[in-house]
Amino acid sequence: MTEFKLQALGLSGSHLTDYQGNQIHAGVLEDLKGLDASAKAAGFDFTIASAYRDFHRQKAIWNAKYSGKRPILDSQNQVIDIAGLTSEAIIEAILLFSAMPGTSRHHFGTDIDVYAKNCLSNGASLQLEPWEYEVDGPFYAFSCWLEENLHRFGFYKPYDKFRGGVAAEPWHISHFELANDMSSHLDIATIADVIAQHDVLGKNTIVHNIDTLYHRFVVNVASK
Ligand SMILES: [Zn+2]
Repeated sequence: MTEFKLQALGLSGSHLTDYQGNQIHAGVLEDLKGLDASAKAAGFDFTIASAYRDFHRQKAIWNAKYSGKRPILDSQNQVIDIAGLTSEAIIEAILLFSAMPGTSRHHFGTDIDVYAKNCLSNGASLQLEPWEYEVDGPFYAFSCWLEENLHRFGFYKPYDKFRGGVAAEPWHISHFELANDMSSHLDIATIADVIAQHDVLGKNTIVHNIDTLYHRFVVNVASK
């Protein structure tokens, strides 16, 4: 497999660099610095909640959810009781908020979850839930600022709204050009192979339905 494929799958970190203690795609560094400085100048303490995540970390999250060790939430933030659910139903439920290992855009290093630390009220901790970024939420002003400014630095929001796959994630920004470049190295067969080769829970069902899952949950994002 090529190094580009391994990078895009979260199996190689050779494209990464450090930015304030977070691993990001080296090609994103200058644009991210620009966005960060511009946000700070506008009064927002731009902070990264999550940047690069590798295949193994994503697999640990996936397996914890699939096995019931970590809660799976529905669109109303209610815990789903997975006892008695089919493998298909569990997989679909997890995919609302968590990607299959090998398909997370956080593998790219071009995609980052962000918030404005100084907008959190005293004692409150970050939840990364949509209400925080909506009208009356602590990050509403920051979210509006992002909406108006992230394009200047090459970023966009791939999960700007629910499209029938992954839930809306207003905190998730992506470097359009470099993320597309990373994703161009992936295809359905490669993803299915990698999942089949690792101990991913539910992998037989995933591989069996990979076509549908790929189109509904992996490439079903905003177009800029
Ligand atoms: Zn994210």
